[in-house]
Amino acid sequence: MTTFAVSVDLGGTNLRIAAVDSNGKTLEKITTSTAVTRGRDRVIDEMSAAIQQIVAQQRGAGELAGIGIGVPGIIEMQTGMLRESPNLPGWDNYPVRDEIERRLRATVVLENDANAAALGEKWLGAAAGLDDMCMLTLGTGVGGGIVMQGRIWHGMTGMAGELGHINVEPNGHPCKCGSRGCLEQYASATAIKRMAHEAVATGMAPHLARAIAADPEFGSKLIYEMAMQGDAPARAIFERVGTALGLVLADLVNIFNFPMYLIGGGVSSAWDAFAPSMMETVRRNSFVYRATAPTENTLSGHTTTSSGRTIIALAQLGSDAGLVGAARLPMIATRANGAGSRPA
Ligand SMILES: [Zn+2]
Repeated sequence: MTTFAVSVDLGGTNLRIAAVDSNGKTLEKITTSTAVTRGRDRVIDEMSAAIQQIVAQQRGAGELAGIGIGVPGIIEMQTGMLRESPNLPGWDNYPVRDEIERRLRATVVLENDANAAALGEKWLGAAAGLDDMCMLTLGTGVGGGIVMQGRIWHGMTGMAGELGHINVEPNGHPCKCGSRGCLEQYASATAIKRMAHEAVATGMAPHLARAIAADPEFGSKLIYEMAMQGDAPARAIFERVGTALGLVLADLVNIFNFPMYLIGGGVSSAWDAFAPSMMETVRRNSFVYRATAPTENTLSGHTTTSSGRTIIALAQLGSDAGLVGAARLPMIATRANGAGSRPA
């Protein structure tokens, strides 16, 4: 009999839920209208109701393996507690796992959303078949996930892999984590918008100034389009994104010597604009990369793996990586998934 799992991606803006079977087939996927800003208790109520509904609808798909929930922020695996989340105000030190388990009477596995995305790409995406990989998710913030020997690397408490908070500028822009100059401050959608405003403030970016004035709700996509049209200040912003990513990737390659490093999340669609400076920086800063670089051109982002070569590429599952990975969590939790499983 096949099993299926229900996964939840609790983003900073809305809530997405999916049912995925043990073969990796997505049976159902919904985006709820739940606005996370409406507060924790309301979100927990609506999330529980939506999970129950989807479980009832998929009863014919087999046995429910459990529920996997990806959340932004640092979590404590043993207690299933969200310790701190800059994107979910009011959720600090909240026992998310126990609360959902109590309501639904099913196994719940809580995981950092970027860890879940890395696991998704390892299961069904660009890193399928690999046991070691690392992923950076570029969205509102920058998340990181490390998969080592087939499992998410949790560290002591579950908080390992915060790659978005690796320093790239010693006295750089202040970060929500309390540090300064983190990767997140140079490679997230939020950072790209900020750097656009900074460029406009210098008075040296007239086209950007006009575009932003015409569309005050602009996103990083607008800056990307201007960069691809050749606007120098917009190009400089994405060169900075690429340099920051390259510095962190060079460190990661030197530390891990993994076969694959993936870039995912919404901002990764601007690959063409940031990849040249990113790859140049990795090559310059990592001697391990230079010794293991693939011979073919890697700028396309679609290079396949080959033995002994370091691949830096685009993730493949898009915005579904986190949902797919979160669904995988309860399926593998019983197989001694490190801190992910309950103490025996
Ligand atoms: Zn930080």
